[in-house]
Amino acid sequence: MPAMHDSLWTATAPPGPECPPLESNDAADVVVVGAGYTGLSATLHLARAGRRVVVLDAGEPGWGCSGRNGGQVNPGGVKMLPEDVLATLGPVWGERFLEFGDRSCNLVFELVERYRIECEALRPGYVQGGFGAKGRRFNREWARQWAARSREVRFLERDEIAELIGTRRYGSGMHDARGGNVQPLAYARGLARAAIEEGAVIHGASAATAVVRDGTGWSVHTDRASIRCEFVVLATNGYTDRLWPGLRETVVPVASFVTATAPLGHNVLPSVLPGRHAVSETARIIVYYRLDRQGRFIIGGRGRWLDVTDRGDAPHVRVAAVRLFPQLEGVEWEYRWAGWPAITRDHLPRLFALDRGVYAGLGYNGRGVASATLMGQQLATMILGDGEPLVEVRGPERFAFHRFRQAGISYHLLAGSLLDHFDRRGAA
Ligand SMILES: Cc1cc2nc3c(=O)[nH]c(=O)nc-3n(C[C@H](O)[C@H](O)[C@H](O)COP(=O)(O)OP(=O)(O)OC[C@H]3O[C@@H](n4cnc5c(N)ncnc54)[C@H](O)[C@@H]3O)c2cc1C
Repeated sequence: MPAMHDSLWTATAPPGPECPPLESNDAADVVVVGAGYTGLSATLHLARAGRRVVVLDAGEPGWGCSGRNGGQVNPGGVKMLPEDVLATLGPVWGERFLEFGDRSCNLVFELVERYRIECEALRPGYVQGGFGAKGRRFNREWARQWAARSREVRFLERDEIAELIGTRRYGSGMHDARGGNVQPLAYARGLARAAIEEGAVIHGASAATAVVRDGTGWSVHTDRASIRCEFVVLATNGYTDRLWPGLRETVVPVASFVTATAPLGHNVLPSVLPGRHAVSETARIIVYYRLDRQGRFIIGGRGRWLDVTDRGDAPHVRVAAVRLFPQLEGVEWEYRWAGWPAITRDHLPRLFALDRGVYAGLGYNGRGVASATLMGQQLATMILGDGEPLVEVRGPERFAFHRFRQAGISYHLLAGSLLDHFDRRGAA
């Protein structure tokens, strides 16, 4: 089995449930490939409705991005203004996607409560810092457009955001009460435990190697055994391999890093994120940050390079941390790690019908804690025939020239950093 990475999350999460490899042939209603939030949430909802579900993961629950992320529960489903979502998706699917973005955070906290998942869940809200006139406009519009939909979101002037989160780096901000934080690996393991309690079976160290037609259904194979089923859910996101032809080409994985300090001392802690908010920014190339329960400062950002190890490329993110909170100068950085979230063409997640009974949900563009959890539930809704999902079901759309896309995204990161620099000059 691919080894679990070393991170703050692996060091502090409760152990996951036993998930032995698939050793003999089996049958199920649904086979789910991938035990991240998408796959686990789909499994949990299907098992709760009485379906027999078997999950296969090449590693273990939370091995992918779901055990590596920043743990921010971001509202809205996408970093796009509601009016832009409507313009992109049209009035019908746009409205449905806004409902998706709105419901996603609630589902995370509901599941945590219902299954008593120990994952440091906290809901003080999500804050977005804005740079310059552009950032101010985005924050103001986010607050106005969501408030018009009766959501608890407010615009913050320079002094208000400084007081709320403790940095004077931003010229504006917004506070969205729907967001919060979780310990991401503990959340993934808690979902896995809950799914097993509901009757699902999860196999770790069991990479799916083929999905083949079998009578009116399917057989999903590993190198040791296979499972016959009626439905298959592919929930492999940025780790999508060649299991289903063309699926890998629908997204581009982009390296993302997180780094965490040792618990901050009493001289520093009270002045950094006193409300324990989840914070991100309006710029093109952003950092996002929060505290954990022990008072460690945790900050993440996009990588600069194409090739990353599990440990990541943290120095530039640490420089950004000290720029935000000069009092962090000289603190000990205890952990750093990395993963591969998946990007889509228009930054909106995708729900694909790949064949009769074969579905995939992926492409959360670095915002999957809430969205992937809800996508899993939507996949379950569809398989159960409980109604139309909130995300349009499409046939797969490959990126043209996929193989060059990562290089393109690297160029975009470099260009984005330069443009951000000009936006910020004199205009914070
Ligand atoms: C460093 C970093 C920071 C992030 N920060 C945030 C954040 O703060 N907030 C937020 O909302 N989102 C964040 N994200 C994004 C978020 O983590 C992802 O969007 C989300 O976890 C995706 O979940 P998933 O279940 O779709 O995929 P994953 O969790 O990546 O799971 C995919 C699984 O598929 C398995 N798999 C792949 N191929 C096979 C196969 N053939 N057979 C069996 N198993 C297979 C893998 O082993 C893996 O476990 C971050 C991501 C990273 C990497």
